Amino acid sequence: MKRICLIISIIAMFANCSNNKNEINLPVTRTFDCDVLVIGGGPAGLSAAICSARKGAKTILAERNGCLGGMATSGLVAPLMSSTTPDGKTLIIRGFFEEFVDSMVAVGGAIHPLKSEIGSLTAYRDKGHHGLTTFDYECFKKTAEDFCKDAGVELLYHLLFVKTDTKDNKITAAYFATKAGIWKITAKNYIDCTGDGDVAESAGVPYIYGDGNGDIQASSLFFTVRNVNKAAMDAHNEECKKKNDFEGQFYMREILAAREAGEFPIWRQKIALFENLDGTYTVNMAQNDSVDGLDPKQITDAEVTGREQAAIIVKFLRKYVKGCENCELAATADQLGVRETRRIDGVYTVTAEDAKNSVKYPDPIFCCANSMDIHRKGRVEYVARNTNEPYYVPYRALLPKNIDNMLVAGRCASAERPVMAAIRVIPPCFAMGQAAGTAAAMSVAKNTSPKELNTEELVKTLKEDGVYLP
Ligand SMILES: Cc1cc2nc3c(=O)[nH]c(=O)nc-3n(C[C@H](O)[C@H](O)[C@H](O)COP(=O)(O)OP(=O)(O)OC[C@H]3O[C@@H](n4cnc5c(N)ncnc54)[C@H](O)[C@@H]3O)c2cc1C
Repeated sequence: MKRICLIISIIAMFANCSNNKNEINLPVTRTFDCDVLVIGGGPAGLSAAICSARKGAKTILAERNGCLGGMATSGLVAPLMSSTTPDGKTLIIRGFFEEFVDSMVAVGGAIHPLKSEIGSLTAYRDKGHHGLTTFDYECFKKTAEDFCKDAGVELLYHLLFVKTDTKDNKITAAYFATKAGIWKITAKNYIDCTGDGDVAESAGVPYIYGDGNGDIQASSLFFTVRNVNKAAMDAHNEECKKKNDFEGQFYMREILAAREAGEFPIWRQKIALFENLDGTYTVNMAQNDSVDGLDPKQITDAEVTGREQAAIIVKFLRKYVKGCENCELAATADQLGVRETRRIDGVYTVTAEDAKNSVKYPDPIFCCANSMDIHRKGRVEYVARNTNEPYYVPYRALLPKNIDNMLVAGRCASAERPVMAAIRVIPPCFAMGQAAGTAAAMSVAKNTSPKELNTEELVKTLKEDGVYLP
């Protein structure tokens, strides 16, 4: 008998070891079930989860980091890009985004976008920098967690999504690598908010990577500096503006001189510092070209290089920039700022022509006026629009073509490259998340698929929830 048992266990052991040495089989150590599973807790994901739970769906938000916010917190990205008309006078990204900002403002953790002044706290640029939101990273994290708690979102940190099961054009389960083994979560609807479209890729959704020919936008590691003399910086800024000296305003001549002297081996042409509420400045000047944001080895190398660049940039600021003579590195981001990876092929792909001409759709979920800028090696390419009117994003841009119980929100939604270069900034990602979460919960309540949801009803609900759709 003992011998038979031994033979059976040896056979079982071999059955578990695949013939392919590059595969492993691991047991599931814990399972969860919910109505709506949101994967990725960045701006899109946190909005999706909170708006889904508020509509009564049992919602889980799974995130690989130990906080919410994605690039806005772990990536030290700041400020929140424009949420207004180009003149900064009318707030057009509203709904949950506005509520979130108001909550931060109420506790002194942000400056309202309608109060942001060009050339003062938030932005030094006159064009494209109206309506920014200066915010505090810690306040953002806490506000997001408070909203989750109030809405009843079940938060699961430290879960790295690795795989889906699919059947008949539906996702049937999602698997996560955790410190405690593999965890499995099943849901009625799944929302991919990973920024990279990890869930969509695993489920077999077609996608485009970068420009479709291997070219990808530059990545940047953000960092912050302290001990900046704001008065001296502002005085220089004002002086250059009076003289119409754009190059002087952004220390472009000094960057060229430093590069020639071997003191600035980085492709940035201009200084880019944004003042934070605590007097530190966020610096968006490090840059790495052609990093594949889906390859951990390349990301690691870029993060190490990014920190080397931060030290070089601080040295440059101290030597060349008025007001920065005594500045010091305060913090570097925990993760690299990846501008671009996958965009899914959705039921509708928002085209650059649509955005340029403010085309209207029957199923709009938000509108915005962010500039379309593509970050290439050595330059930023701006795509001109034909109108100053806001442009729209339709619900269908969140729906992948071949999976029926899934939505995608944020940087990996379905839009042509120049459009995603604009709507990937944080306020539009909030808006996409609100629409995805609301739609996912509504479709659970109506026992229908997100694709069959009555979009008139969705648009009406979004408007009732504060979304601005003129
Ligand atoms: C260099 C740079 C500069 C920028 N500057 C600005 C700016 O000044 N203002 C502005 O508003 N926007 C800016 N942006 C854009 C903005 O920060 C991002 O595009 C935006 O945060 C995208 O939101 P998201 O929710 O789609 O993705 P992310 O913010 O990337 O969030 C995705 C979340 O998913 C999690 N995740 C990813 N994969 C997995 C997985 N497999 N399993 C579990 N969790 C996962 C991540 O940890 C993260 O929390 C900048 C971006 C970059 C890269």
